[in-house]
Order: sequence, then C-alpha cells, then structure tokens
Amino acid sequence: MMASGKKAAKKTAMDGQIKKLAKQAMAARGRAYCPYSSHPVGVAIVSQSGKVYAGANVEIAHYKGVCAEASAISAMITAGERHIRAVVVAGPSMEYLCTPCGDCRQRLREFCAPDVRIYSLWKDGNLGAVHTMADLLPLSFGPENLQEVGALPKTQPKAGAAATGGKQKKERVKNTPEKQNKKNKKDVSPGSLRRRNTRPS
Ligand SMILES: [Zn+2]
Repeated sequence: MMASGKKAAKKTAMDGQIKKLAKQAMAARGRAYCPYSSHPVGVAIVSQSGKVYAGANVEIAHYKGVCAEASAISAMITAGERHIRAVVVAGPSMEYLCTPCGDCRQRLREFCAPDVRIYSLWKDGNLGAVHTMADLLPLSFGPENLQEVGALPKTQPKAGAAATGGKQKKERVKNTPEKQNKKNKKDVSPGSLRRRNTRPS
C-alpha cells in the first residue's frame, strides 16, 4: 500500500544504515538530469556485497528517459553484481510519495528477493514508507518463470525467484480450471506459464 500524507513519515524511523543510504540517494537526486519533468529522483541500492550504487533519473529530448532505479541497477550490474539487499528512493515531493514506478518495480524484482525492503523518502529525506518487493509487485513474473520452461539455464541468478512465494503458488494450483484442457498445451503466454508453475521453489 502506498502511504500518503505526512503521518506515515512519523510512524517509520530510519536506522543508521538507511540514513546513510538516504543521504546518498538525495545526493544522486541532486545530480538528476530532468529538464522536461522537473521531477528529480535519486536512488541508492545496496548489493549483496554491501556496496552502494546510486542512480538518478536521466531525461532525453525524445522523452525516452531512464528512471533513477534503472540507473542504479545499471551501475550495479556494470560492477558485476546481481543481487540487491535494500533500495532507497528519494523523490522530490512532500505530498505524493515517490515509490518506484511500475516499470521499475519489474526491474527491481529481477534482482530482489521478495523480502527486500524498498524505502521511499519525502523530499526532505524523512522516511515516508517501507515496502517489501512482494508488496510492490505481487503475483509477479520473473526469471524463474523462464527457467521452468528451459529458456534460462538453471544456473542463472534467481534473485527474485521466491517473489512468487509458496502461498501464491498454492493459489495458482487452485485456480487451474484448464488443467485438463489439452488445447492449452501449447499456450506459452506468461499467464499460462504462471498457472502451470505449481512446483515448490
Ligand atoms: Zn521508474
């Protein structure tokens, strides 16, 4: 659930590490290139090794810009890392909390386990809300969906693999009315793949 209003900020306290990340995210926000939207965003992600990768949004005259989350992820991948441990997003507003956009939720999910926390900050750096990856992108599609059908080798990183946790899988089993329908055998749409994904992780 997206928190709104300043009340949420008072409810949540930041520990030392997150405060440091908040500073880095805000510094990145200060370097954002967003002449078209005037909506600067900075992100700091902590990788599995403990290193921090920051990113800012970068807008282009053809309007195909890159979000701050995507910038930070690119920096992490370029450095050779594949797993995210925490994410801090510093938005520019005191009214509308800047949680990751839909596109970025999918990008983050590629490299986040479902319990990875995403901290969303107000403009002044105060914490607005904390969500898990699974909160932000429930019933998600990820690398393991492709692994199951052999499109990816089993050795591929499964950073977000458990994002479709056991509970969801059970639901899927329940909701498989076409189970016996042979006509669906060749249906390889993502929805179909999810329905059939009944194996425990
Ligand atoms: Zn985004």
